[in-house]
Amino acid sequence: MCRHLAYVGPPLPLARLLVEPPRGLYEQSWQPRRQRHGTVNADGFGVGWYPADSEAAVPGEPGAAAVPGPPAPHGPAPHDPAPHDPAPPVPAAGGPAAPAERPGDEGAAVPARYRRALPVWADPNFAELARVIRSGAVLAAVRSATEGTAPDESAAAPFRDGRWLFSHNGAVPDWTRLPTGLGSAELLSLEARSDSALLWAMLAGRLRRGEPPGGAIAAVVREVAAARPTARLNFLLTDGRTIAASAWGDTLWYRARPGAVVVASEPDDAVGAALGEWREVPDRSLLLATTEGVRVIALRPERKDTT
Ligand code: GLN
Repeated sequence: MCRHLAYVGPPLPLARLLVEPPRGLYEQSWQPRRQRHGTVNADGFGVGWYPADSEAAVPGEPGAAAVPGPPAPHGPAPHDPAPHDPAPPVPAAGGPAAPAERPGDEGAAVPARYRRALPVWADPNFAELARVIRSGAVLAAVRSATEGTAPDESAAAPFRDGRWLFSHNGAVPDWTRLPTGLGSAELLSLEARSDSALLWAMLAGRLRRGEPPGGAIAAVVREVAAARPTARLNFLLTDGRTIAASAWGDTLWYRARPGAVVVASEPDDAVGAALGEWREVPDRSLLLATTEGVRVIALRPERKDTT
């Protein structure tokens, strides 16, 4: 992706965040101001958002419908146990009675996505949906495809794993031969044939093993930069409550006020400073944001420790 944005704060219509601001993400698809590589972002776009009531939503409830629960192994279950049902579900032979949750999924909603392989301005449905969909946690991107990657919507960010949404702005030279440490099953189940999907598989593996987002991003950036020193690795990651990002080869900005934060490739010209002033993140940095505040940490290739 060539320009991306994440927001965590009070629920807003997606259009307020993405479409309405002058020089916002929508306009950046044809007229970015600060992009270092590429001129237009017309090869697709995507938005992922968490249900506005995401505090209450858990896998298996409405609003988390994207999580397919396993079918009952032996005929219909007598009742669908609610995740907080006080009566313990009777375990069915050969499988769990309740939908299995990944570690870390508890209480977090699974985000929905809308992704297309066309320019965002060419999809009137997007503007229509963005007017009425409200969310308090959003990750969106407009794409300028790197040569040799899939042109279809599978390669349009955000990528997703459970409650996580991810976008990559940048490129990895000779990515098909990048040493990744991934097994063949992981390589075969890449979300798309692209450098970004490969980076996402590397990062998602670490998140699934319980690494904190900042540490996982730092580790993948250092590992890839060691193997491909000219790689551009601006990552953007959210679980719907926190945002983690790297600036490594392209621009990154943020604006914050108590209770809300936006992290974006470049600032918009939204009038009024309701979300605070835009600040630029220096190259080779890791950004960690919550609605309480933002931390920016230098990311040096040679450092062994992680945040
Ligand atoms: N390499 C990624 C892709 O092809 C991202 C491209 C970009 O940042 N311009 O989708």
